[in-house]
Amino acid sequence: MRLVDTHVHINFPDYGQDLTAVRRRWQEAGVCRLIHACVTPEDFSKMQAIADQFPEVSLAVGVHPLNTAEFWQEDSAEQISTLAQSDPRVVAIGETGLDFYKAENQREQITAFQHQLRIAEELNLPVIIHCRDSAQTTYEVLKDFPRVRGVMHCWAGNPVETEWFLGLGMYISFSGIITFKNAKQVHESCKIVPSDRLLIETDCPFLAPHPQRGKRNEPALVQYVAQRLAELRNTEVWEIAEQTTNNAFTLFNLWSREQVLYAHSPSLARKEAEYLSYPQPAR
Ligand SMILES: [Zn+2]
Ligand SMILES: [Zn+2]
Repeated sequence: MRLVDTHVHINFPDYGQDLTAVRRRWQEAGVCRLIHACVTPEDFSKMQAIADQFPEVSLAVGVHPLNTAEFWQEDSAEQISTLAQSDPRVVAIGETGLDFYKAENQREQITAFQHQLRIAEELNLPVIIHCRDSAQTTYEVLKDFPRVRGVMHCWAGNPVETEWFLGLGMYISFSGIITFKNAKQVHESCKIVPSDRLLIETDCPFLAPHPQRGKRNEPALVQYVAQRLAELRNTEVWEIAEQTTNNAFTLFNLWSREQVLYAHSPSLARKEAEYLSYPQPAR
């Protein structure tokens, strides 16, 4: 079984001590690729160092809506665009989006979101969208960028909202939230997403799935998300794995990654080839 964790923050200090063991566990769980989300461009060099160490990690670059108050400046858009073009391992812009839970800077968040959508459009990269208590406005903003593809990450919206974003061509990524008993509206939402638009993620270190709820999350636990998704959609976990892995490769264009990586660094490409031949657990 091969899985892709499409949203991780393993640069956080939570993993300062044991990232190698965390990696061993994600390999054992069959996680073959990870998309590293970015909270502020200041994270980027640490993320690059992690990707040097673990070639299965691809990168995103952007400013999180909750960090716009502190980090969004006039030159931020240019900085993100420059970083995105500086490293061929960048496969997405984000995370960006809107988080109106307790937010006082909605206007500023919208401006930062629009700028990042424009970069995604210019560079033809998908965008990773964080959307909390903001579905209506997120939808209104996105409608102005019909050519932008992307994913609604850590999705917790109801079925009506899910339909809006599906209508815009977005992928929908489910996290550990779907393993929580009381997350009824997300359970309904995950049943209506077509299989070719489904993704899975941990959003680690946050939101560890049941039965690890409350603990530090990590990429290996994305297997619980896949399992619960299979139950809710009345299918088999290997089918969810195959479908979501295919979808992640398609959205983030991971198919061509070997060539891109080879041009960037032959030694990394060899490391990656070795990694990909790592024996996968049987279905
Ligand atoms: Zn997020
Ligand atoms: Zn995140």
